[in-house]
Amino acid sequence: MKDNELWNTTTKLNHPEKIELLPGNSSLLQPIYHSAKFMPSEDYPLWDQFIYTRVSNPTIRQLEVTLADLQKKEDCIVVSSGIAAITTTFLSLLRQGDHIVTFRELYKPSRQFIREKLPLFGIEHTVLSLSSLDELENTLKKNTRLVHFESPANPHLQLADIEKIIEICHRKNVLVSMDGTFGGLHQHTRYAVDIMIQSLTKFANGHGDVTAGAIAASKEITKRIRETSLYLGASLDPQAGYLIQRGLKTYMLRYNKQTETAQEIVSFLRNHPRVKRVHYPEGELADKQMEDKGSILAFEIDPQVAPSADKFCYRLSLIQLTASVGSTESIICPTMTFFGQDLSPSDREALGINAFSLRLSVGLEDSSDLIRDLSSALDQTDSYDE
Ligand SMILES: *Cc1c(COP(=O)(O)O)cnc(C)c1O
Repeated sequence: MKDNELWNTTTKLNHPEKIELLPGNSSLLQPIYHSAKFMPSEDYPLWDQFIYTRVSNPTIRQLEVTLADLQKKEDCIVVSSGIAAITTTFLSLLRQGDHIVTFRELYKPSRQFIREKLPLFGIEHTVLSLSSLDELENTLKKNTRLVHFESPANPHLQLADIEKIIEICHRKNVLVSMDGTFGGLHQHTRYAVDIMIQSLTKFANGHGDVTAGAIAASKEITKRIRETSLYLGASLDPQAGYLIQRGLKTYMLRYNKQTETAQEIVSFLRNHPRVKRVHYPEGELADKQMEDKGSILAFEIDPQVAPSADKFCYRLSLIQLTASVGSTESIICPTMTFFGQDLSPSDREALGINAFSLRLSVGLEDSSDLIRDLSSALDQTDSYDE
């Protein structure tokens, strides 16, 4: 008689029979390991095994291995948001008395964390501009541990000269971390950035339903980061990990199609008399660094079009005003309201952020429908009725 035949109802309900596959019979897709706990086998060292999901989980590990391979790094750590990937990296690699260098062309929460929160831990910072990289070398001090940048930068897509940053930093033994979210996961892989950070919420997931982030680096660096990330506790739920893994199946298809549509929109906006400027990765550096120019663009409307970029967004019917990028739906936001509030007037001016600037992330809709939506909003003149 099996032990469980003696069990009473509530015991049985809490220890249901496990369905195991016969040897050689396997599922095409990996199952979602929706368990916070795993029982060890006596046959292997305890801590080589999966034990507790905050530390490691097979579904999350599969995603980490996929992402390390895609980004050509030795290993990868997946966490519960892009910003967790950034703060986990900083808090793991920096300590009291250290110095970090970054750039004003940066995702606002990253910039704010460096400016407002790292000083609370005794970590100093210097903020430069991507357009004056010549200052970088002299900014690196004895206690500089990390240089962090984005390319293309959120929201107006300035590009960093990646090779130059790496060359300067590595000559002085300073680690380089890059937030590559805007370019996607398949680009920039040939550059020797020490730490590649990605918000998986964007192109990797693609469908806008979960947040996640990734830190890809050498085994040595991921080991250091993991030691701290365990305590910060920003582990990703396996169900969310599965959705990211599923999103990745169509990653390249989406990226290519969205890029194609974005380029049609770039040329439509460039030729529109009521659009003052369009930001999109172009020129020598873009051609050198990016095989694909991506599906995010920014533009500035003529003040005649609407009282503000915010008002302009509410006129659109297909393109939605909201945060984030890289979704199957096209998304727009006024860059001043979303990203400009903490910047000095001169930084705003230099970055092209003002009351009339917008960021557009192109989705999978038909390009003619998107262009019709933009066109009708740009052509309206009866807007000053508030
Ligand atoms: C969105 C974004 C992040 C933050 O990612 P979340 O998943 O929203 O936390 C970080 N960097 C860049 C460049 C982003 O666009």
